[in-house]
Amino acid sequence: MAVLLLTNDDGVHARGLAALADALADVGDLYVVAPEREQSTCGHALTLHRPLRAVPVRERWYAVNGTPSDCVNLAVLGFLPERPVLVVSGINHGSNLGDDVTYSGTVSAAMEGTLLSVPSIAISLMEGGDFPAAGEVARLMALRVLVEGLPRKTLLNVNVPAVPPRGIRMTRLGHRVYSGKVIEQTDPRGRTHYWIGGGEPEWEALEGTDMGAVHEGYVAVTPLHLDLTNHRAMAQMNDWQPALNAQFRHAPRIRDE
Ligand code: MN
Repeated sequence: MAVLLLTNDDGVHARGLAALADALADVGDLYVVAPEREQSTCGHALTLHRPLRAVPVRERWYAVNGTPSDCVNLAVLGFLPERPVLVVSGINHGSNLGDDVTYSGTVSAAMEGTLLSVPSIAISLMEGGDFPAAGEVARLMALRVLVEGLPRKTLLNVNVPAVPPRGIRMTRLGHRVYSGKVIEQTDPRGRTHYWIGGGEPEWEALEGTDMGAVHEGYVAVTPLHLDLTNHRAMAQMNDWQPALNAQFRHAPRIRDE
């Protein structure tokens, strides 16, 4: 059987990862390479300035002293006996919806797989949801991706609602509305500190979005593209280059010596 790589950002001992491995047990030869401790909201960080160790925790399960992206990079580029045909990251404890995907270690692991040209899926479960149910969704998605493949530079971000899912919807990312609330406090020594990320999240129109789908009890499947270039903007801004160069004092002058 082909090799599948499983990882997460909640750590190698997380319940969601065990549920994922249970659900995919018959889909391929599973290898788990996951952070030794929780790395939620670490984004797409890579560890380049200290050595990584992969410690076996049981057969084909390894704990790495790094980020989810480290785990995928290490596993795909040499640690596994062969190149995986699929990376599945999750099952995250909590949703990864809309703009929040950029902070997510779960989604970043799937991004790393995608950058290394391995089809990749991130799967997250809303708080209070049922892990075996999310596992069933993961299995369905994995089998489909193994048969169909994925478009170039594209990963799937899957979110499972807390209620028994009513079905599956293909969605787009929702967008947060930032109410701009930073909590400012004073510590016992009179110094000021701040808490960010507080307050109730608000969202723009939910129609067609991942947030809207899980809100209505559906699994949200969002294809994410890793070409971050805004090609339309590039075309719209094509007069910027000559204008900027005309104003740029340090532009090299052509000298005809
Ligand atoms: Mn997490």
